[in-house]
Amino acid sequence: MSVPFYSKVGVVGAGTMGNGIVQVFATHGTEVLMLDSNPKALEGGLGAIEKSLGRLIKKEKISEEEARAIVGRISTGTDLSALSDQALVIEAVVERADVKATIFETLDSITPQSTILATNTSSISITEIAASTNRPDRVIGMHFMNPVPLMKLVEVIRGQATSAETTAAVVACSEAIGKVPVEANDYPGFVSNRVLMPMINEAVFCLMEGVATREGIDTVMKLGMAHPMGPLTLADLIGLDVCLDIMEVLHDGLGDSKYRPCPLLRRMVAAGQLGRKTGKGFYEYE
Ligand code: NAD
Repeated sequence: MSVPFYSKVGVVGAGTMGNGIVQVFATHGTEVLMLDSNPKALEGGLGAIEKSLGRLIKKEKISEEEARAIVGRISTGTDLSALSDQALVIEAVVERADVKATIFETLDSITPQSTILATNTSSISITEIAASTNRPDRVIGMHFMNPVPLMKLVEVIRGQATSAETTAAVVACSEAIGKVPVEANDYPGFVSNRVLMPMINEAVFCLMEGVATREGIDTVMKLGMAHPMGPLTLADLIGLDVCLDIMEVLHDGLGDSKYRPCPLLRRMVAAGQLGRKTGKGFYEYE
């Protein structure tokens, strides 16, 4: 059997999403190089992977030996030039178009022309990111969900110039690491955030207009629609600043007033009430 093209993968960004992506690939036998400009983030990323593997050992899903082998397949570094013959590099750094453009420009100059460059962006245009490279046919969105080791979905997003070969390779790779890929085209918010964020935004309008209490709104969606968590609780988990940013992307990119961010959402972000990460959002946290 020939070695699959994802036998060596690079992941740029060791934060929440990056370390989850690294764990999943390493679990499926891939040698992964995890890169981050911040050495502390690399330490944190490795720590998060070890903690997650520890939980799997406790639940008897993997053995200690398997966990050691997974960690043994991960190497780390702070310099992108450590990338050499990886056939696939996945970028998972901060959600800023300028930062991603710089990284893709560098990745384009240091990786072989055949390397596929994927981005885990939640909302930035794949086509725009691809435009900072000389290989837009080999740039693609690979949008994992949080927490990556648990969530099955990968949204595979084709930019304007992404080739059918690149898409097919990334779909096959996603399946090989135990995920379910869904193909989408490059429109603001793709599918996931185009559907999720307006629902959250509408829940905030319901709260602002006094249609029901925060608990009432969440309970309707949990018990009435079988959602695992209510939209206001979910917004607190995602971060209200992230929700607002994505609503702005939908509003600007699609130009339809139905995507206007709720004034209460804006007001809470302005007040620094961002959800769990600040201890207060729609609910209060210790
Ligand atoms: P995070 O803040 O946890 O991690 C980002 C990491 O990028 C940090 O460790 C930071 O040190 C590193 N970084 C920043 N600039 C860098 C650079 N120039 N070179 C190398 N590393 C750099 O962020 P996250 O939540 O993991 O999100 C990463 C990406 O994934 C974003 O594009 C985000 O939109 C997307 N995303 C996030 C989620 C989520 O639920 N958190 C879900 C899906 C997609």
